[in-house]
Amino acid sequence: MTDTRDTDYLRLADKALCGEELTYEESSGLLDAGAGDLLPLLQAAFKIRRTYWGTEVRVHILNNVQNGLCSEDCSYCPQSGGSQAPIAEYPMKSEGEVLAEADRAWRAGAFRYCMVFSGKAPDLARTRRIAGYVEKIKAKYPLEVCVSAGIFGEEHLALLKDSGCDRINHNLNTSERNYPLICTTHTYRDRLNTLLAAGKAGLEVCSGLIAGLGETRDELIELALTFRRLDVKSIPVNFLLPIEGNKAAAAGLDPQYCLKILCLFRFLNPRAEIRVAAGRELNLRSLEVMSLYPANSLFLDGYLNVKGSPGPRTLEMIRDAGFTIASEFRLEDILDGGKKAPPLGRESLKTGRDLRPAL
Ligand code: SF4
Repeated sequence: MTDTRDTDYLRLADKALCGEELTYEESSGLLDAGAGDLLPLLQAAFKIRRTYWGTEVRVHILNNVQNGLCSEDCSYCPQSGGSQAPIAEYPMKSEGEVLAEADRAWRAGAFRYCMVFSGKAPDLARTRRIAGYVEKIKAKYPLEVCVSAGIFGEEHLALLKDSGCDRINHNLNTSERNYPLICTTHTYRDRLNTLLAAGKAGLEVCSGLIAGLGETRDELIELALTFRRLDVKSIPVNFLLPIEGNKAAAAGLDPQYCLKILCLFRFLNPRAEIRVAAGRELNLRSLEVMSLYPANSLFLDGYLNVKGSPGPRTLEMIRDAGFTIASEFRLEDILDGGKKAPPLGRESLKTGRDLRPAL
């Protein structure tokens, strides 16, 4: 027998698949789903995900091409001037270093290679250098390339478009109301204008959020709708990673709420590449694998300055859940060259002391 709520979520999925926008009440209902409604909600989100993306997962690997040394004061970021987090700071990596890392990303099964540069807004000379890196990567590897380097103007974006760059990333991160509370050195509008200009330059736009920065539920819905109106092709849904030394404090997210946020973004942006991004391990905890039902993409090997779970563990999670990756390489070959796992050795067996701790 099917529960009424099950058919409600499936009806909303059908509505989303017909291109209709969910109402405020319907969107809000997704975030309010009770624990017992989680599976039907995920099933409905998966119906949308499967229609556009099948069971494929796009694996993204980030490269901090320039790290730290940033003038901005984003409260969540260990690269910001105000952060005390002890990160490794360095200026822009050489072309050779970036190309070697692109090679590694390609062999690790990456679909997209995301080059991230700290800083507010690159000047034209710096943008030319970035465009040169993109050209070289595109000539050598069948990788999609995304550049994240802050605020860009029209001239800068034209250079990147000519270089073969596929995508520009610039996250809105939070709502317009909340923005001054997380950053005072640039505005939500600055970020929005870059996204609008990138779209005009013919570049695909990637823009996401960081849940857990004090935004309200209504603001999450507002953000999801903003991405829908901007026709954002790729939405990284980050969950705050509270880092010692940063201004942004622990987020109070729980695993089920994180899954509901992913579902909300899937329902309101049905065709978008929804990425379960930074903080998936910490915030989704034991429910991490379930994020693959609303999301069709993830980061491998951590997030800028924070380590994630080891690459093979993430790939195993994808394989074990019956999903595949978008790569020239087979998941099995990347993982273990097709070999079976070895039998458990002595070190895996419980000892007498483990078995009889009261003795
Ligand atoms: S998010 Fe970007 S602009 Fe903000 S502090 Fe970090 S590197 Fe700088």
